[in-house]
Amino acid sequence: MSFKEVKEEINPFIGEVKPNWCLGCGNYGLLTATTNALAKLGFKPNEVVMTSGIGCSSNFPHWTSVYGIHALHGRSLPVAMGVRLTNPNLTVIAVSGDGDTYGIGMGHFIHAARRNLDMTCLVMNNQINGLTTGQYSPTSQLGHITITSPLNGVDEYPINPISLALGAGTSFVARAFSGNRKHLQSIIEQAIQHKGFAFVDVLSPCVTFNRLNTYSWFRERVYELGDDHDTSNICDGLIKAQEWGEKIPIGVFYQIIKPSLKDMDPTLQERVPVNEPLGFKAQGIDAHVIFEEFS
Ligand code: SF4
Repeated sequence: MSFKEVKEEINPFIGEVKPNWCLGCGNYGLLTATTNALAKLGFKPNEVVMTSGIGCSSNFPHWTSVYGIHALHGRSLPVAMGVRLTNPNLTVIAVSGDGDTYGIGMGHFIHAARRNLDMTCLVMNNQINGLTTGQYSPTSQLGHITITSPLNGVDEYPINPISLALGAGTSFVARAFSGNRKHLQSIIEQAIQHKGFAFVDVLSPCVTFNRLNTYSWFRERVYELGDDHDTSNICDGLIKAQEWGEKIPIGVFYQIIKPSLKDMDPTLQERVPVNEPLGFKAQGIDAHVIFEEFS
């Protein structure tokens, strides 16, 4: 049996290129959970598109067998929205890190939330900029000593991704921990199946540059939201979102079904771009001729 045949049998979503993340990086947990979730939900690799920005975590699509677009810094979400609007037959997952999403990509995050297009946004939140060797990020803890806060530590309050997502109108808001693989996979399955913009903040330790928020630091603190948490009540979600420190809740904070931008815009319903002919026939331009010229 070839490697390809073995891979197909075990999990067709595992890519042929091996990840180059540091040994023990939290991103491995999300990679395994996501490929397992897609296989369990019965997708085929050619039915899924992943988009990413820039950062360690944004290499994610390369390590899978699905279609991938490794976009510009902070632009995983606008590219994902473009794919979603162009071809409604594809399942779209945007993957990136805390620096990419909550820093340079912050504006896109808020607008993606309020448009509520049917897609999943997975953020590997390691509270540091790992790729660029350990500068503090928008979610770094107050007082954290990093190479860009060497004296007194970080002196800016960290962003609370869960509160932010709830405030922006996200219709599925969840947090998971890459050290709890079973729970993480279950959250990803729910996010992919959600009809609307599904956001998961994944606590994903950077073992090389963040020596504060480690696996053991999280293991002492995380707990799963129980059945007594009402996921249909945004106020309950906002109250739970404030818990961070001694105890850190993981699970679904809030979920609601509501119309998306596409549902409310008649032009987006009438014409599906992927079904439109290439080119601008009215102007006498045939895109096939142009492609042939450059092929
Ligand atoms: Fe992961 Fe940190 Fe290594 Fe990047 S630097 S691969 S985030 S452990």
